[in-house]
Amino acid sequence: MENEIQEARPLNFLEKIIEDDLANGRVPNNTIVTRFPPEPNGYLHIGHIKSICINFGLAEKYHGRCHLRLDDTNPAKEDMEYINSIKDDIRWLGFDWGKYEFYASDYYDQLYEIAIRLIKEGKAYVDDLSAEEMKEYRGTLTQPGRNSPYRDRSIEENLRLFEEMKEGMHPEGSKTLRAKIDMASPNINLRDPALYRIKFATHPRTGDKWCIYPMYDFTHPISDAIEGITHSICTLEFEDHRPAYDWATSIDGIEHTPHQYEFARLNVTYLLMSKRRLLYLVNNKFVTGWDDPRMPTISGIRRKGYSPESMKDFVSRVGVAKVEGMVDYSLMEFCVREDLNKRAKRLMAVLDPLKLVIDNYPEGQVEYFEAENNPEDPEAGTHSVAFTRELYIEREDFMETPVKGYHRLYPGNEIRLKYAYYVTAVKVDKDEDGNIVAVHCTYDPESKGGTTPDGRKVKGTSHWVSADHVLKAEVRQYDKLFKAEVPGAATGNYLDDINPDSLVVIPEAYIELEAAKAKVGDYLQFIRNGYYCVDSKDSRPEAMVFNRTCTLKDSWAKQKKKMGL
Ligand code: ATP
Ligand code: MG
Repeated sequence: MENEIQEARPLNFLEKIIEDDLANGRVPNNTIVTRFPPEPNGYLHIGHIKSICINFGLAEKYHGRCHLRLDDTNPAKEDMEYINSIKDDIRWLGFDWGKYEFYASDYYDQLYEIAIRLIKEGKAYVDDLSAEEMKEYRGTLTQPGRNSPYRDRSIEENLRLFEEMKEGMHPEGSKTLRAKIDMASPNINLRDPALYRIKFATHPRTGDKWCIYPMYDFTHPISDAIEGITHSICTLEFEDHRPAYDWATSIDGIEHTPHQYEFARLNVTYLLMSKRRLLYLVNNKFVTGWDDPRMPTISGIRRKGYSPESMKDFVSRVGVAKVEGMVDYSLMEFCVREDLNKRAKRLMAVLDPLKLVIDNYPEGQVEYFEAENNPEDPEAGTHSVAFTRELYIEREDFMETPVKGYHRLYPGNEIRLKYAYYVTAVKVDKDEDGNIVAVHCTYDPESKGGTTPDGRKVKGTSHWVSADHVLKAEVRQYDKLFKAEVPGAATGNYLDDINPDSLVVIPEAYIELEAAKAKVGDYLQFIRNGYYCVDSKDSRPEAMVFNRTCTLKDSWAKQKKKMGL
C-alpha cells in the first residue's frame, strides 16, 4: 500500500537526477552512494530528519547505500555524547548505515598529504594574516579581494611553516594554510579559501595528535571522494560553496568525482532549528536538557512520544524542493495525531479530579467492564477497568449551575459513564469555603454497558476512574516552547517569545490501573485528554510519570477545511 502511494507521486528533482545518471551510465558500479554528514556539535533536530530521510531514503529506493559520516573537524565543540545521540536517533528513525560508519577525522592523514602536495605544486600557501585582516583582504560581493602579502612565499618556506604549524610551534590564529586560487573570483568561496587552521584542542577521537585541523570546504568534498559518494546532498546554504567543492574534488590525484546537490532546509513554525541556539537553551536552563520534550530535537520529540513513522510521514508530505519555506507546526502535529490515532492504547485518566459518589451502588462492590484498547483497530483487543461506588470524574465535567448548552453532569441531568452506567446527579458536598468536594448521583442498574431497555438517550459521556482501583501518577502537560510563529521575529530576540506555560505539571493525576502496565515507548491516549507516553527518564514503577505528546484537537483539519482541501 505504502509503495503504491510512493509510486504514484511524481519524482522529486533529486530522484530525477539520480535516475538520469543511472540511465546514462554516470554512476560507478551503478551503485548510488549518499551520506548523512552531521557535525557532532549538538543533538539532531527535526530539520535533520529531512536530510536523513532524503539521504537514507534515496539509497534505499535505488538499492545503493548511505554512509553515516561524523563531520568532526571542530574539536572545541564536539563531544562523544553527541556522536552517540546522533547514532541513536538515526536508528530510532529506522535507518541503518551498516558498516559504513565514517569520521572526517579518519581522513586527517590523507588530507594532510593532499595539503603537502598542493604546497609542493604551488597551489597552497601559509598565510600570516589575522582573521580580521583576512576578512578585509577578501573583498565583498561587489569588490574583488586583494592578494595577501604572504601569497608568494616560496614552496620551501611554505613547507617549513606548515610543518611548524603541525608541530605546534605557532599560536592559534597566527597562521592558516590557504589554497591559492583567485582573489578576484566572483565567488568569495574561491578567494583563496583556508584549508587548515591551528587549534590546540583535544579531539574526541584523535586526541592530541593534531593541532591543525582541516576546514569544511576542504574536508567535506575530499571525504566524499574517498568514500565514493556519488550524490552529495546538502542544504541550500552550501550552494555558494559548490565551486569550492568542485575545486577540491578536482585536485590532481583524487580519482572519484562526487557531485553536490542542494535542497531547501526544513523550517517549521514555532520551532528553532539551530544547534547553536538549542545549545544556548540547554546551557542556560530554559529546558532540562537536549532531550527535554519541548525541544525540537529528535531525542526531545521521542521523549514526548512522537513516533518515527509520523515524522517520516511529515517530511515526505513536505517534499523535496529547492525553494526555502516555512512549514506549519500544525501539519506536523496532524501527522503525529494521524499515526497515534491508529496505534495508541486508550486509557481513562482524570487529570483534574472531582469525586463522584453513586449513592445507590452497593458499597464494596466491584464490577469490571471491558474497555476497547483502540476503536480504530479491532485487533487491539480490550482490557478491563474496575467500577466502584466512588469514582473520579474531571472537574470540568460537572457544573452545579449549568451554562446554556452544557450537556455534561449537573443536578438532575443524566449522563453516561463510559463503558459503564447512566448516572444522574443529585447533590453536591462542599467544604467550608464553598468548593465542591464531591458530587452525589444515582445510577440506573438497567443501563449497564451504556444502553437502557427503553432506549433513552443521553447527551454527555464522561470518562472516570475508580477511587479504589487507581494509579496516581505525575502528568506533564507539554506545550510549545515558543509562543510566536517565528521566535524572535518581533524583537530580534527569540528568548522574548518563550512560552511561560510550556510545561504544566500535574503532580497527581488519577489514571485507571491498566496504565501501570505501560512501558517506555508505548503510545497512549488518555481519552478526551490527549496522547501521552511514559517519560523515559523520570518515570519509576512506583512513581510513574506521563508526558503529553499532543492534544487531541486537530487544528490542521480545521485549517484544511478553511482552505477548501
Ligand atoms: P544547524 O544549523 O542546526 O547547526 P547544521 O547544518 O550545522 O545544523 P549539520 O550537523 O552540519 O548541522 O547537518 C548535517 C546535515 O543535515 C547537513 O547536510 C545539513 O545540510 C542537514 N540539515 C541541517 N539542518 C537542516 C534542516 N533544517 N533541514 C534539512 N536539512 C538540514
Ligand atoms: Mg553546522
